[in-house]
Amino acid sequence: MKAYPLRAVGLLNYEDVPYPELKPGWCIVKVKAAGICSSDIPRIFKKGTYHFPTVCGHEFSGVVSEVCDEENKCYIGKRVGVFPLIPCRNCDQCLQGKYEMCSNYDYIGSRRDGAFAEYVSVPIWNLIELDNNISFEDAAMMEPLAVSLHAMKQFNIKSTDNVAIVGTGMIAFAAAQWGIALGAKSVTVLGRSNSKKKLADNIPDIRFDLINECKQQFDCVLEAVGSNEAINKSILLAKAGGRIVLMGNPEGDFNCSQDVYWKILRKQLVVMGTWNSSYENNKCCDWSEVKNALSKNLINVNTLISHRFDQMHVIEALELMNSHNEPYCKVMTIWNKENC
Ligand SMILES: [Zn+2]
Ligand SMILES: [Zn+2]
Repeated sequence: MKAYPLRAVGLLNYEDVPYPELKPGWCIVKVKAAGICSSDIPRIFKKGTYHFPTVCGHEFSGVVSEVCDEENKCYIGKRVGVFPLIPCRNCDQCLQGKYEMCSNYDYIGSRRDGAFAEYVSVPIWNLIELDNNISFEDAAMMEPLAVSLHAMKQFNIKSTDNVAIVGTGMIAFAAAQWGIALGAKSVTVLGRSNSKKKLADNIPDIRFDLINECKQQFDCVLEAVGSNEAINKSILLAKAGGRIVLMGNPEGDFNCSQDVYWKILRKQLVVMGTWNSSYENNKCCDWSEVKNALSKNLINVNTLISHRFDQMHVIEALELMNSHNEPYCKVMTIWNKENC
């Protein structure tokens, strides 16, 4: 089969690789759509994966093509989304069902082979069966949608809350949509330039403002960048008694001036972290909420996908994101187009 194994930092090609391993309790998913996460870019071009070679790609959907056990035969041919985290089920967090905080997890697409491939090996437990009206592309967006929902749920949004989203990445715009869906009074996406303003204009009820010109104070501020500048700004943008959720992956050490730090104290801000998303097979969790929202068209996924690339052109897709030569939102790769 064809895949893009990462052989060293920055070294990947469209290659013939062995078919993935099939173990008891696992299945093979024939990939149909795989989104590129912004975390894949440093993973591929800067930091590398936990070991080489590894196939990246953790935001994906497809069709179950093979199962190991007789009892799982019913899954063959099912259209599925996939929760990419494989928990240890042994640590304190796992025993409470908080798998996103597992201290000893495996991860499809970073610690083990993922979805920039024609086929990927997945535990049956991690499969989310799709309703017929959910497209493969929508389903490949379930992971970032679940991550952004998980972040927004930390706020416990009230109908009087004005919400700010600091950042203009795909997750930021997804979070903004969740803010509306969760009943916020207003949601404002704050960017450094107007390059993504058009995107906000395409999403009903979402405002856009330049972060350096914004005079408003907000009840809830989601930090969706991870830079010092964005974290400092988030603290300044929060109202007295406001809540801040930190979501952006930090790009380095965090520094803040004494004056900004004082604001956390004087405004008695609640600063929270968010990580990944909650999942439990066939139970109520972030992923089941995302699935329901997609079925009911509560989230506009189409506006979030800016580019599509065929499986032959994944390197171009990665380079588009790495170079920042043009604005993008979600960059989606399409797999196994002809058959199935
Ligand atoms: Zn991701
Ligand atoms: Zn665990």
